[in-house]
Amino acid sequence: MSKKEGTPLKAFKAESKRLLELMINSIYTHKEIFLRELISNASDAMDKLYYKSMSENLGLSRGEFEITIHPDKKERTLTITDNGIGMTKDELEKNLGVIAQSGTLRFRDDLNKSAETPEDLSVIGQFGVGFYSAFMVAKKVIVKSKQYGVDEAFIWSSEGADGYTVEPCEPESHGTSITLFIKENADDERYDEFLEQYRIKNLITKYSDYIRYPIKMEMTSSKLKEETAESDNPEYEDTVEVKTLNSMVPIWKKNKSELKNEDYHDFYKAKFMDYTEPHSVIHDKTEGGATYSALMFIPKKAPFDYYTKEYEKGLQLYSSGVMIMEKCSDLLPDHFSFVRGLVDSEDLSLNISREMLQHDRQLKVIAKSIERSIRSELKKMLRSEREKYVEFWGAFGTQVKFGVYNGFGQNNDALKDLLVFHSSSENALTTLDEYVTRMKENQEAIYYAAGDTIQRIDSLPQVETLKDKGFEILYLTENVDEFCLQMLAQYGKDDESAKPFKSIQSADVDVADESEKDEIKKINDDSKALLDVMKEALGDKIADVKVSKRLKTHPVCLTSSGLLTTQMEKVLSAMPTDNKAKADKVLEINSGHPIFEKLQFLYDNDKEKLGVYADILYNQALLIEGMPVENPAEFAQKMCGLMI
Ligand code: ADP
Ligand code: MG
Repeated sequence: MSKKEGTPLKAFKAESKRLLELMINSIYTHKEIFLRELISNASDAMDKLYYKSMSENLGLSRGEFEITIHPDKKERTLTITDNGIGMTKDELEKNLGVIAQSGTLRFRDDLNKSAETPEDLSVIGQFGVGFYSAFMVAKKVIVKSKQYGVDEAFIWSSEGADGYTVEPCEPESHGTSITLFIKENADDERYDEFLEQYRIKNLITKYSDYIRYPIKMEMTSSKLKEETAESDNPEYEDTVEVKTLNSMVPIWKKNKSELKNEDYHDFYKAKFMDYTEPHSVIHDKTEGGATYSALMFIPKKAPFDYYTKEYEKGLQLYSSGVMIMEKCSDLLPDHFSFVRGLVDSEDLSLNISREMLQHDRQLKVIAKSIERSIRSELKKMLRSEREKYVEFWGAFGTQVKFGVYNGFGQNNDALKDLLVFHSSSENALTTLDEYVTRMKENQEAIYYAAGDTIQRIDSLPQVETLKDKGFEILYLTENVDEFCLQMLAQYGKDDESAKPFKSIQSADVDVADESEKDEIKKINDDSKALLDVMKEALGDKIADVKVSKRLKTHPVCLTSSGLLTTQMEKVLSAMPTDNKAKADKVLEINSGHPIFEKLQFLYDNDKEKLGVYADILYNQALLIEGMPVENPAEFAQKMCGLMI
């Protein structure tokens, strides 16, 4: 099929030439996508003929259409054939010689002009540079085409940017066959693989699995010769079978009612290579603002690299059943980065680039709607399947809380009702809304305490009195928790009734009634001199020493007077940053505890020893908070000094 003598070489239009040159030097890193492009063109061509048949009653049925792929290693050719609408001589020149002149686009306009417009034209691609991608892997491309209902057929042929020829050929059946003369391997570029059956099969499952027409190819497999099966020398022979390589109907296009949980689970496991079933499935089909189908999954467990920089969030992006991006990160907000799945939209062009996508208005609309859908699914689960939600929370709750913190207020409204924390009164995870409805009359704040474990927090000195007075406390056990609540700042039905979050490990939490308050003030005033000596002994380790009524059986506790609590200090100091901010610590002493009398005694008799006591009590308070003592050896010495 080489160029005949005398056939004139026609020049490409300037912009086509430029595009072709780009393709030859490859703008795509994944040259393999050429196959996807050609298959999707073939599929478009069959769509066109099918619609034509419907509008003109030609009596063709969908089942007649197919795409065949034929690799020929000897000739180094790969041929893709369809029995779609085909192209006339004129169309070959116009469609393949000029870009930005999308045939599919014009086809649609023509059909729209005719009175009877067949439904669902949206499947047809809109605009693109697809065909030229063939030149990424081929040094020469031949397109043989015969339009449906026309008796002539033509061959378009090109060896690159120099130009192309069009000449008549023997007409066979309608449709188009595209033959690529595959480039020779060069340096690190390997082209041979595009002639391998298994590579082709993989590419089709990867990119074109859901093309709605069968993609067929002869597959060779080695089979045992039956007559030799029993013998000592079993022999094998190559058998060739035509196989359909794609599964054709995308599961996300099916109706929910047709699908069983099992179908979703099998799909998830195969597609996302997880051997555990997903925790939940979200299957959306929307029309209106954005037309798309989405099939999303929440995994049971976080992938091993989930909380590392290596983890890449994103959903697969399809345009009318053809995959255009493996991981589109713009579709998922960080706080839902654990969701896996795909989105298929007819509103997106097949050839849209990553850069263009970021600014695509339609994609933004879809992303917004997806975020809403995930959120409402989670809320539903929280409301009606608490156990399931708790399981989800165990795997990904941390990420949602990070979402609040990293959003600097922007995600507060979206995420606040998804948060759950351990409650002192329920001994289970509770939502903020549930907490608020249980609050005592005139309760001023939503109380929380932070620590390493529930048990540890529960035995904090500060917790005791609050619990005695009937207040519910949220127990925060994860590093991000307190930062998350500080970002939220308050919670309530509306701004007016909203209550601030308060750490009961902070110095300004006061659940004392008026008479108690007076009493505390008096004790503190009376003990000023004593407290000053202790403060002096502790130096800049603490911001203040005071007598408090918030303790019941414990001698001391540590609180903080600024926004930064001791627990936050602990988190920050464990992080690999320079932010070694310190909490303003306050040592609180229980006036009802015998230790207080002892301190008063020491003040009158042995001020030096009072200093030692202050230091020991301070270190004990640190230990209770789960903080390391500052100088363990010295602390041990001092303790021992009191024991002997
Ligand atoms: P797009 O598919 O986005 O229009 P392409 O560069 O992929 O852009 O294809 C250009 C045009 O060539 C198509 O619009 C179509 O009119 C025509 N074409 C390509 N392949 C075929 C085919 N297999 N059968 C019929 N027409 C085709
Ligand atoms: Mg195309």
